[in-house]
Amino acid sequence: MSRRRRIYEGKAKVLYEGPEPGTLIQHFKDDATAVDAGSKEVVDGKGVLNNRISEFLFSRLNEIGVPTHFIKRLNMREQLIREAEIIPVETIVRNVAAGSLSARLGIEEGTPLPRSIIEFCFKSDDLGDPLVSEEHITAFGWANPQEIDEMTALALRINDFLSGLFLGIGIKLVDFKVEFGRIYENDMVRIVLADEISPDSCRLWDISTDEKLDRDRFRKDMSGLIEAYQDVARRLGILFENERPESSGPVLVKS
Ligand code: UDP
Repeated sequence: MSRRRRIYEGKAKVLYEGPEPGTLIQHFKDDATAVDAGSKEVVDGKGVLNNRISEFLFSRLNEIGVPTHFIKRLNMREQLIREAEIIPVETIVRNVAAGSLSARLGIEEGTPLPRSIIEFCFKSDDLGDPLVSEEHITAFGWANPQEIDEMTALALRINDFLSGLFLGIGIKLVDFKVEFGRIYENDMVRIVLADEISPDSCRLWDISTDEKLDRDRFRKDMSGLIEAYQDVARRLGILFENERPESSGPVLVKS
């Protein structure tokens, strides 16, 4: 269908050549995968929701001065982004024990952590994104110490901001994963937030019921994945493209 050059295809997204040098088009697919489990399914509408949610969160982060690769959303499934050299390290921030941290350290899911904890994983599907230390990152040249400091500082700012944003709409930000990239400008290298932030990359629990509103619904074989993602979009006030407005008749407009 498309004659654009495909640069990269991942589990949930495709990257195409952009309209200008230094730009790319990030396309959100509907594919849902469960890490490790190897299961894969197409969830109609997931890509549209993640595109919109990620656009919203990246825009808000841009506004508070977190540099990102995001330029603008192009359509329901695509956004224009700046081409960045992706650092092959996933940065995970945790506020509440869950997932691999609970499994690894035997801490019950849902236990609040004494402080936000940052972890790094090596980006490798074949190896299952193993946990690594700063020693590995610098020894293997994936990022230098200054870049690690910058990724850590940005990740903590993103965490503070998003924790507050989600708290305001009744959602607990349990943990999330972000990726960073390098953008070369003249003689300068800038670290920017890249990839996406969506219910695919965060654990989001309803504040009062602990109901899961994220990809764990798929991982744990719970139904209602799309409804949960819609709920997040609705609470953020951005569900307009995915919802048929209810016919409520004419509305009296007060002057
Ligand atoms: N995560 C992600 N991609 C990955 C691995 C983890 O987006 O490849 C996110 C995941 O959704 C969760 C956080 O990072 O919000 C921490 O994940 P964890 O290490 O607990 O691994 P999981 O239990 O998800 O395998």
